[in-house]
Amino acid sequence: MKTEILKINRDNIDIDKIKYAAKVLREGGLVAFPTETVYGLGANALNEKSLKKIFEAKGRPSDNPLIVHIADKKDVYQLTLDISEYAEKLMDMFWPGALTLVFKKDSKVPDIVTAGLSTVALRMPQHPIALELIREAKVPVAAPSANVSGRPSPTSSKHVIEDLNGKVDVIIEGGNANIGVESTVIDATLWPPVVLRPGGISIEQLKDAIGHINVDPALFKEDGDKFVPKSPGMKYKHYAPKAEVIVIEGEVLKVAGKINTLIEEYKCKGILPGVLSTKQTRSFYKCEHVVSVGDRLEPETIAANLFKALRDFDDMGVQVILAEAVESTGIGLAIMNRMKKAAGYKTIYVS
Ligand code: AMP
Ligand code: MG
Repeated sequence: MKTEILKINRDNIDIDKIKYAAKVLREGGLVAFPTETVYGLGANALNEKSLKKIFEAKGRPSDNPLIVHIADKKDVYQLTLDISEYAEKLMDMFWPGALTLVFKKDSKVPDIVTAGLSTVALRMPQHPIALELIREAKVPVAAPSANVSGRPSPTSSKHVIEDLNGKVDVIIEGGNANIGVESTVIDATLWPPVVLRPGGISIEQLKDAIGHINVDPALFKEDGDKFVPKSPGMKYKHYAPKAEVIVIEGEVLKVAGKINTLIEEYKCKGILPGVLSTKQTRSFYKCEHVVSVGDRLEPETIAANLFKALRDFDDMGVQVILAEAVESTGIGLAIMNRMKKAAGYKTIYVS
């Protein structure tokens, strides 16, 4: 299949290009587009045939449900049942934005979207290109991240082209996704709501908004724990570059010491190491392939660059990535969730 690449400026949107891509979507095609979290791979959420194409293009397991994206809050009442007062409040506070709410689904939502579940996940994205596209498509748009399943999520159109060129109808090039990790997913069928996936909106923000929030214990899973996540997608290997990833956790200077020891050990074995460091620690390492992912004092910068950094190591031919852990507060919880999943939970604690 020939993929059309459409370049659109988010600050000066060419509405004819949006209308063209929206028509492709409405008529059953696949369109990759930027959102503020990561790039999404969109299909008409009411058309089973086009939804099937999403699973094929990504190689996504069919039991992993899709998030449905809308541009008008009224659509929530068409697609779901039993919306609580606190869910209304969260939508009003955080939409458009990086929060996905899981509701009881209306029968008009096809089963393939929800992988057979009786619930559906909804989000209104904030990115102007995403909003215009959904508005013009005049249908709800199911959109998982626009990567091949298992790979790091795409935060630029370059990543989408690497993974999906030739497999989708249109890729919109619209700059970098500025948050860089996916949305926070909460189960809004319960009180208090339960965080199923940490993401762009922090648990602290949600607690401030409605007073109470629980977290799916599976999110704190380590190797050997038996929790099964309530969000089907969270059980899969995810976000993984080709290189092996190992997370090193502990006090910053001790972590650096441990990583320097590991660098030597890997070099001796003929394995090429790389270090995922931060602005504050980059100069600590004696290694050719050191990437500073961002500033520890501004963790949003780390979130914004994490997936790109993982892909960059693959381009360098690095075989093992030694990744410094960061604080698990605020957006740090989402960063550590993605980093540990990329590592398949391989973690070394230094004390
Ligand atoms: P992605 O779109 O690839 O970022 O993944 C969407 C995430 O939302 C996955 O982790 C899904 O398991 C989760 N999700 C989507 N729909 C539901 C649902 N109805 N119930 C629970 N989790 C869901
Ligand atoms: Mg994904």
